[in-house]
Amino acid sequence: THQAHFQNVPDTDYADLAQRQPALQAIATVQQQLGKTYWPLINGEYQQTEAQVDSVNPSNPIEVIGRIGLMSQAQADKAIAAAKVAFPAWQRTPAQQRANILRKAADLLNQRRAELAAWIVLEVGKPLREADGEVSEAIDFCRYYADEMERLEPGHSYDLAGETNRYHYRPRGIVLVISPWNFPLAIPTGMAVAALVAGNCTLLKPAEVSSVIIAKLTEILVEAGVPKGVFQYVPAKGSTVGAYMVKHPDIHMITFTGSQEVGCRIYADAAILQPGQRHLKQVVAEMGGKNAIIIDESADLDQAVQGVVQSAFGYSGQKCSACSRVIVVEPIYEGFVARLVEATRSLNVGDAAHPSTQVGPVIDATARDRIKSYIEQGKSEAQVALEMPTPDTGYFVGPVVFSEVAPTAAIAQEEIFGPVLSVIRAKNFAEALAIANGTQFALTGGLYSRTPSHIQQAQAEFEVGNLYINRGITGAIVARQPFGGFKLSGVGSKAGGPDYLLQFLEPYAITENI
Ligand code: GLU
Repeated sequence: THQAHFQNVPDTDYADLAQRQPALQAIATVQQQLGKTYWPLINGEYQQTEAQVDSVNPSNPIEVIGRIGLMSQAQADKAIAAAKVAFPAWQRTPAQQRANILRKAADLLNQRRAELAAWIVLEVGKPLREADGEVSEAIDFCRYYADEMERLEPGHSYDLAGETNRYHYRPRGIVLVISPWNFPLAIPTGMAVAALVAGNCTLLKPAEVSSVIIAKLTEILVEAGVPKGVFQYVPAKGSTVGAYMVKHPDIHMITFTGSQEVGCRIYADAAILQPGQRHLKQVVAEMGGKNAIIIDESADLDQAVQGVVQSAFGYSGQKCSACSRVIVVEPIYEGFVARLVEATRSLNVGDAAHPSTQVGPVIDATARDRIKSYIEQGKSEAQVALEMPTPDTGYFVGPVVFSEVAPTAAIAQEEIFGPVLSVIRAKNFAEALAIANGTQFALTGGLYSRTPSHIQQAQAEFEVGNLYINRGITGAIVARQPFGGFKLSGVGSKAGGPDYLLQFLEPYAITENI
């Protein structure tokens, strides 16, 4: 099954009735399976817990998707102890065998594609096409990291007369993965399978509101052949048991995607040497963005409007890659804003499970209230170019476009993580680029331009991890657009890229005098 050249798996083609029908049928089937209880998987067994929490449908919060058992601190200790026991054998398992388990998981994900997409639609309110894309990304991560591990496995040699020099990689030990709800399948799968294929034992703690999807991923990893204790599903309250696991002396590495506040906390906590700890912890933290798209006077405006709308309002702006600032040069500013408003107005906002929905709900009531208070603040800082009505039931926020936003305004500096877009006026391209770089973040950025000198300058000076020219700025594809940023957008290298697995490995060198 090993492919010499990695290939991305195709998404479902919803234009094709033969593919569309099973996808819609899967939503109905999954709706019959709601409300079950899911327990943590500790040392190969599902263990009951004292505490439980409901995971609900953000489009319709009275609908309980599933009930999640939350581990206690004692259960966290048991899981970490089981990982410690399982580590030596997993470390010795040949890399190719570990890689083949990932390939099996990829095949199972693909077989269950329609069902998994349906769980994503219902549990986190992501419209179907985007949910389907996420299943593709999860599959790609499995196959790509499988290939990557086989590429790294042989190591390097540098031999001289009378001396051999070998350079190899070994796993770090126990990796704690703390995953976000906004890409509830793709991101946790990527982080967990990277850790696993590198030979680490892995504990996966999902965001509470997306735990049912991770229970499904757990079934798949077990069926693919990951041994007991090697992968464990450890749902827990983040602020207590999650924080406890971060500080635990037997954890070697924490891989996190989420808010800047939590990421910085983890980075600090992981740095403290605990009694009995004999290593320093590695942290990979993928945090926020305040991503800008620059539109210059030579841009194709049809293309630009479409790319900005998709990047700003896809999954209700709840992507760290989302466009939340559009910086437009003076001569085309008025015309661009008018077209942007019209295009945004035509978006269908509603229940994520409805096939015509383009913008679904936001994740929960806390997010909705936070976004709404930013909208209120925006009204005191800028002009409202468009405020769309909000459906009544569910955690909805209609898309909002602010114009004449000052580059230093709160809505132009702080990550809102919702469907709120700030349009900023710039005198010229140089000023636009300076404004784009004027935040604490460096994640994604975009430029619509047909001016070669502007494109060159952006390539050299736009401070982002992922720069997109004449296209939208979300939807990075494994291997093609390795994803991740710097500055306060995060530490660690590029998910879906050639340096990613190295972070889960310790290199060592052996010299033999002969
Ligand atoms: N990789 C995703 C994208 O390119 C964003 C991931 C995130 O929001 O954390 O759109």
